[in-house]
Amino acid sequence: MQKVVRVHHTVESYVQQNFHQRMRAPEECPRCHRYHRFQAHGYYERFTTDRMGKTLRIQVRRFLCMHCARTLSCLPYFLQPYRLISNPTLEAFMRGEGQRVDVQRQAGLLQRYRKRFVSGWKTLASLLGNLFGRAPPQETATAFWRRTVAACGSLAELTLRLIQDFRTTCFGTYRCHQPP
Ligand SMILES: [Zn+2]
Repeated sequence: MQKVVRVHHTVESYVQQNFHQRMRAPEECPRCHRYHRFQAHGYYERFTTDRMGKTLRIQVRRFLCMHCARTLSCLPYFLQPYRLISNPTLEAFMRGEGQRVDVQRQAGLLQRYRKRFVSGWKTLASLLGNLFGRAPPQETATAFWRRTVAACGSLAELTLRLIQDFRTTCFGTYRCHQPP
C-alpha cells in the first residue's frame, strides 16, 4: 500500500534533514482501518528531482500493519507516485514555465508525462464530476489540469485527494492504492 503524507519540506530539506527518519505512521491503516497498529518497517530508496531538475536519491518510510500484515509506504507530499519528476517541476511545466531550468532539464520526460495525462484525463474528469467546479464547455486537458490543481491549491494536495478519495492519480490507477 502507498499513501501520500503532508510534510512541510522541499525535496532538498527532506533529504538534508533526513526527514524520512522522523516520518510518523498514519493513525489508521488504509487497508483494514484499524488504529495504531503500525510498526516501523524500514525504508526503500527511490529517485526524484530537485529544484534544478537534477536526479537525486531519496528514502521513503515504510510501516507494517500488525493487524493485516501489509506494508505501507509514506510518500512525502512533493513526490508523484511512480513518477521520477517531483511535483513542483511538474506544476511549473503544466503552467507553461518552459524557461525554468528544472523544466528544461527534464523536458523530454515531462512531455511523456503530459501525453500520458492527456490520454487519461477524460476518465479522471468524469470521475471527479463537479467536485472541483463545473467544467467550461470545450475544456482542454491542460485547462482541466490547471483548474483542478488550482482548486486544491497544489498538485501535491490534488494527488493526495485523488489517492485518498478516488484511488487514482493524474497519471494512472495503481494496485497499491486499491482496497483489499
Ligand atoms: Zn492494516
